[in-house]
Amino acid sequence: RKCIAVMTSGGDSQGMNAALRGLVRMAMYRHARVFLIYEGYQGLVQGGDLIKETTWYGVSHIMGKGGTVIGTARCKEFRERWGRRAAALNLVKKRITNLIVIGGDGSLTGANLFREEWPELLQELVEEGNISAQEQTECDHLNIVGMVGSIDNDMCGTDMTLGADSALHRIVEAVDAISFTASSHQRCFVLEVMGRHCGYLALVSSLGCNADWCLIPESPPSDNWEKKMCEQLCRSREEGARMNLIIVAEGAVDRQGQPISSQYVKSVIEKELGYDTRITVLGHVQRGGAPSAYDRLMGCRVGAAAANAVLDADKDNEPVLVGLQGNRVVQSPLMKCVRETQGIAGAMKDGNFKEALSMRAGSFVR
Ligand code: ATP
Repeated sequence: RKCIAVMTSGGDSQGMNAALRGLVRMAMYRHARVFLIYEGYQGLVQGGDLIKETTWYGVSHIMGKGGTVIGTARCKEFRERWGRRAAALNLVKKRITNLIVIGGDGSLTGANLFREEWPELLQELVEEGNISAQEQTECDHLNIVGMVGSIDNDMCGTDMTLGADSALHRIVEAVDAISFTASSHQRCFVLEVMGRHCGYLALVSSLGCNADWCLIPESPPSDNWEKKMCEQLCRSREEGARMNLIIVAEGAVDRQGQPISSQYVKSVIEKELGYDTRITVLGHVQRGGAPSAYDRLMGCRVGAAAANAVLDADKDNEPVLVGLQGNRVVQSPLMKCVRETQGIAGAMKDGNFKEALSMRAGSFVR
């Protein structure tokens, strides 16, 4: 029977558990054995109790839970060659040659490196006397499949990442809650949402919540944006609005690439218009709570497809990323997706915003 190991890595997101359940159930349906790696790459390096075989019912009743039930961590040791060698030993000892990683671009880059180094790592383990030549032959190839768990919706190769829809729900709920108090006092609210390099949450929540103004990293505002924003706020008050809402992505920048902070937006409004203005930073609330129905269903679909992808892979298969494109589950070359994602961040850093926009996967900003 084929052996698959699965881990969640990087920042947690809603929908990771649904993906875990989907892949475990599909793999077992296809008679594979599945091992859960706890605490991300930390568990892979440490081994022992952190790598445990699961059963069909081992993943029952997890779909409605937020976060990841197998834990996640950032792991310095896996960035070192000796850490990856220790990880390889832990997998070979259990005859695991298929690894599914649910994480962000960093986690998937690490998985790809692990796969590339795999034959050399095994050779080193033989030379150190830690594995036999037979174990080396039996485990001579490592298959990698990735899925993206991230509330930011910041990865190329998939129109949606696991957790983005749930985070959007949290933001909409928060805006609904704020709106009542804001209207009562005729206040202006500056809402800061997550998204270091990606404005998806800010832009889509602005559309869904009737925001007056929105600031995202991919599209810095024109040089006199402060004046235009204040005119817009004034206009909406003149037309009867009792509150204003400005949504700022945490990574919002101006045309010179300088950060635009919520504090700065607030100070402009107070100075220019004298409106009573408050800031709400949603922070980890966006990662909290139960996953939305969309994230649960998406998790089931991509999880099952990831199990199929890894079980159908042969030795020549490149690592793939399983995601959604146009509501269809698709496989894309993993490293191409990682390179494109990192290219967007790089283009924005260099001030090439048009290029970044054209590279952004999905249709929300284009
Ligand atoms: P998020 O988008 O939430 O930040 P991420 O997967 O990008 O998720 P990272 O902190 O970049 O998060 O990576 C998670 C872990 O993956 C790291 O702690 C490290 O163990 C491993 N990792 C990341 N990049 C590499 C790399 N280049 N080589 C080896 N391991 C890596």
